[in-house]
This record gives sequence, structure tokens and C-alpha cells, in this order.
Amino acid sequence: MTSVEIEIRNESGLHARPAAVLVRAAAGFRSQIGLENATAGNGRAVDAKSLVGVLAAGVEKGHRVRIWAEGDDEAEAVDALRRLLTDGLGDERGAGPGEDAPRSRVLGMPAAPGIAIGPIWRPDVDGTAEVGAAPSMSDSAARIRWAAAAAAAQLHSLAERLCELDRIGESEILEAQSLMAVDPALVDEAVRLAAGGLDSVAAVVASAETSARTLAALDDDLLAARAADVRDVGARVARILAGTAIAMPVAPSIAVAPDLAPSLVAEVPPGLLIGVVLAGGSPTAHVAILARSLGIPVVVAAAGLLGAAEGAGSDAGSATGSIYGPAAGSVIAIDGETGEVLIDPGADDLARLAGLGAARAARDRRAAALRGRPAATRDGQRVPLLANIRSPDDAPRAIAVGAEGVGLFRTEFLFLRRQSAPTEAEQMAAYRRAMEAFGPDRPVVIRLADIGGDKEIPYLGLPHEPNPFLGVRAIRLAHGSRELLLTQLRAIWRAAGLAGVTPHVMAAMVSTIADARLLLELRDEARATVVAAGDPCPDRMFTGLMIEVPSAAILAPELARLADFFSIGTNDLTQYVLAADRGNPSLARLQDALHPAVLRTIASVVAGADGAGIPVAACGELAGDPAGALVLVGLGVDELSAEAASLDGIRAALAGVTSDELQRLAIRALAATDAETVRAMAAELTGRG
Ligand code: PEP
Ligand code: MG
Repeated sequence: MTSVEIEIRNESGLHARPAAVLVRAAAGFRSQIGLENATAGNGRAVDAKSLVGVLAAGVEKGHRVRIWAEGDDEAEAVDALRRLLTDGLGDERGAGPGEDAPRSRVLGMPAAPGIAIGPIWRPDVDGTAEVGAAPSMSDSAARIRWAAAAAAAQLHSLAERLCELDRIGESEILEAQSLMAVDPALVDEAVRLAAGGLDSVAAVVASAETSARTLAALDDDLLAARAADVRDVGARVARILAGTAIAMPVAPSIAVAPDLAPSLVAEVPPGLLIGVVLAGGSPTAHVAILARSLGIPVVVAAAGLLGAAEGAGSDAGSATGSIYGPAAGSVIAIDGETGEVLIDPGADDLARLAGLGAARAARDRRAAALRGRPAATRDGQRVPLLANIRSPDDAPRAIAVGAEGVGLFRTEFLFLRRQSAPTEAEQMAAYRRAMEAFGPDRPVVIRLADIGGDKEIPYLGLPHEPNPFLGVRAIRLAHGSRELLLTQLRAIWRAAGLAGVTPHVMAAMVSTIADARLLLELRDEARATVVAAGDPCPDRMFTGLMIEVPSAAILAPELARLADFFSIGTNDLTQYVLAADRGNPSLARLQDALHPAVLRTIASVVAGADGAGIPVAACGELAGDPAGALVLVGLGVDELSAEAASLDGIRAALAGVTSDELQRLAIRALAATDAETVRAMAAELTGRG
């Protein structure tokens, strides 16, 4: 073991920026490296490769630290760290006034919960690392084909890694990319361009660009996303040809980028990607979904982020030189629950975030402990909690966290990423699996395919619409062509007959009485076909209407007489009440479903349902937000359905309040005029637990 003891002369001690420089430098050595605050004298060494560890050592100006290393490069490691510490770790500015304030604060949209603090990793500007030359083949065609096959193999093994983590949907995206890598359209065009004299790397990039543009020109959101995937694949093949790879972070880091390909997130070695902040993106982008499922906090749509990150990197980077990269010395802290991003956070912010992280961990542990109990308020008002699912594969996880059924099975996901619609038999098998997983006493509410809007299905050949969110979507499709929903309804009747349950079905985008009548007609027609065929078929189907369009909310008293239940889709209801495209990050401030205009609409829906004596559920994102859940129950919503990961939090929030408190909260919320005020009111109740 080699060690050294040094007095720290930095004005603010080892605060975030110098600590990050030290951690990055330590991570460059193979040896195990420890740091101990010899002055504070608790005798505990922290891992010098961990930023949180080094910050937790609480090293102040004048403290002496002992650095030790053990391993085959221990002498070089200790010598390099001694020099860095003696030189002040690039902390040239010293600690002027305001040192404790963050250099920059940006507010983005929360996309995956958790707090992360770490050095910045800029995959788009940190460049590539040499990983060895490609085999020397004189024939450019052979080289391109070899590199394409190698890229396909890489993507396939990344897909397998996600599969092992049970991330089936995300793994399918990478499998599709693996096929794209060896797609003849892409490879043959690259070979042709190379034969024409273009360098093989340039040929691959140009060929991918041509394919991507063809897809993007089809003017279809889903295919536009595939265009980005093709470019990502082309870049990967090109890197393999050039013998390079994207430079991976050397220490646990937070990716800061305009956008990220899911394949890159999957590629970072486990433990080295601890957070993601994107200037663009949305909480529903694939990269956010993947990171969320890997437990990595994410903030998206952080406007002004890149400029702020650049400012931080260039300043401190000049002090540490190119060895540690352009962003060396800059630290970023993100809160995936609030969307807060701090560049070069000060000591106060770090202490606040550490406290917040600990409090949330304790809160999550308390919430998980309630799983076995039925959800209810403190005074015993039951509020059934159900799960939102996209496939029967999601059922086990939902059951594990105590879901009392499924309140929203988004069946359109069965239609995505395919060349043709699932057959009636395929659909039946999927519905039957979900019904059997939950059994006869826990309902599975199957939402008929909500196709259109942001969920386009290319093979259905539906005409392009200039304004798809206001177009022929969901139940509206059936006014033109009944077969899609009839097939689905026959599959549901048959699945329920075989599973021995009474099925629950609902339709999205109901906006008129005619829509509701059409649903009932299709339901009965489908049953008649199944019965005529002599197949097992239940006597009835609980039939619900999603209330997510203002006209349906206004017509609630009349619609309620035609339905067995309502389910409020708060995502679309907010989009349509506030006229704010739900996917547009520039309108984030108009997308809070706690806006009193939305809440007043919900209150009138509940009143309409009460008049006819039918129950009301809520299944949009608001139901999964503890503050939102409390307001919804206060407004009289009977059941909540949310992502499985949210159920613990809602159950705990409900257990901490009485139904009287919720009713008072709802009355105050309805009298408010903006969402922020309502959030603050709800926080008084959620913050108590
Ligand atoms: C909603 O709009 O709130 C909803 C649950 O449906 P989706 O998000 O699938 O449109
Ligand atoms: Mg909806």
C-alpha cells in the first residue's frame, strides 16, 4: 500500500467541483484508492472513486486528508493525486462570495424518480475512444458487411442484457435495430457508394441517412422515431469500421445531451450511468422509459441545459487540462422527482439533496411496508388501487405491488411494432392471460385500441391527418370501419368465456352519445357472433366510457345512463381542456392535471356519474401522483389506476389522511385558480406522512 497525507488549501475544502476532479482522476487508475479525513479523525476511509463518498468525508479548508492506494499502479496513483491536491484540484477561482450557490439551475420535466449527483458525461461531445483497428480487408464491400454484422451482434447482445433485466419492450427496440444493421437496403447502398469511391465510413453514414430520410419523409410519428434508430445504427457501424467506440464514462456519471439513443443507455457498463438529463426528449420517450426501468433518475426537456453545462465544463476544464476531458471538474445534481437540475451545486444544495434523498428512501420503505393491506384512508374509506398495463407480461409486477386488478389495459400496444394486426386468436390469448393472472375477483379493464393521435399504426393504412390529436382516434375509427373493434370485442368475449370471468371493457375518446351507443352496439354484435359459433361466452360485459374529452364531461349525466362505469383519462382531459398538446415540452406549464379548470371538469363528471349511480375511476398520470390521488379521491373518484411503480406511494398517501381532510382539500382546490396553488395545498397533506 502507498499513501500520502496532505493539507487541503481550497477555500471551501473538497466541495463539489474539486471533489469531482479528484474522483475522475482516481477512476483512471486500477488500484483501489481510499481517502480519509485525518483531521475530522473518525478513521473511516471513503472510496476516492465515489463522488458521494468524497463529499461525505466533509473535508474543509485546513483539514488534512490521507490518500492511500493498493494495486499494481498504486505509486503512480498516489503521486498523481498528491500533485492534483497540491495544485488545488483546478479550483483556481477559490471560494468567492456565492461559492455555495450552484453555477446554474435549470428546471426540466421529471421523467424518472431519484436524486443523482455526479460528474457530467457528454456522449455527444466527449468523442470516441480507440478500440482497435477493424480487420484489414482490401475489399471495402467485405469490410462494410463485416462491420454491419458486428454492429448487429453488439445490438443483439445489448438486447439480451435488457431481456435478462426483464425489459422485454425495450429489448425489442434493440433487436429491431440489430436487424436494421444488416438490412440489405442499408448495407447494399453503402457498398454501392463505397464502390463509387466514397470512403467506407462515409458510405455507411450516407446510406443510413438516405434510409432515415425515406422513413422521416413518410410523415408518420412512429416512423420518424425509427428514422432516429436507423441513424443510430449507421453511426454504430461507422464507429466499428473506424475502430472506435463512444468514450464511456470512467466514473459513475450523469449523461447530459440533447437526446440519447436507448442503445447507448443500454451500452454503458452497469453502475457508470447514474443519471440522465436531456435538453429535449419527453417523459414518454424510449430512453426515459428504459432509464426508469433501470432505476436511473431522468430529467427531460431541460431548456438551457446545454449552454449551462458548457459554461461549467469550459471554465473548470481549462484548469485540469485535456486529460480529464472538457467537462472535468463540473458536477451536476439532478432530481428526477421535481425536474431540478443544478450545475456545480453548492454545499447547501448538496446537503439539501442528501437530506431529501434520505427522507424519500425512508418514505418508500414505509410505503412498501403497507403493500399487503387494502388501500384506504386513515378513517377506513376504501379506495381500490388498480394497475395500468400494456401487456399481460406486466401482470406479475402489478400483482407483486398489491394491484387489486387492472384499471387500464392499453391494448393498442399489442398492435405496435408489427407488420400486421394481431389476429383474433392472438388477441384472445393475451386478454385471457391477463384475466387469468388476476382471477375472477380482480377486474381487468380492457381499453379498446386507442389508435390515432400519437399512436399511429402504419399497416392499418389510415389516412394522414394534419392534427391527429383532434382526428379520427379510438372509438371514432369505428364509425368508419367497425371490424377492428369488433375483432377485439369477440376476442375479449371469448377470452372471458375461457377464463371464467365477467369482462370489463372501455372505449377511449368518447365525445358524443352516438359514440357510446356505437360501443354498446359493437359489444352486442360481437357477443352474438361468439354465441352463434357455440363458444363459451359470459352473459354480460361491464362496459365503461373513458371521459377525456370536454364534450363527454359536459354530457356526463346522459352518458352515465348508458354505461356501467366511467374512467377519467386525466392526460387527454388536461390536453383538451387546456388546449395544450400533451407531447409538447414547451407547453409543460399547461400540462398539470391539477389545474382547477381540469378539477372542476372532473367534479362535474363525478356529479353526473352519481346521478346515475355508476362508479368513477381515474387512470391518467394524475392518479399515480400522490398529490393528485388525494385530490381525486376528495373530488369523489372511487378507484385509482396507475403504473405499478406508483401504487405504494398512493397507498401510503391515502393511509395518512382522513376522508374529511380530502373533502376539504377538494373544496379548496376547486376554488383555486392555478395548479401551483393546488399542488401546495395537497403537499400540506402528503408532506405530513
Ligand atoms: C389518459 O388520457 O389519461 C389515458 C389514461 O389514456 P392515454 O394516456 O393512453 O391516452
Ligand atoms: Mg387518453
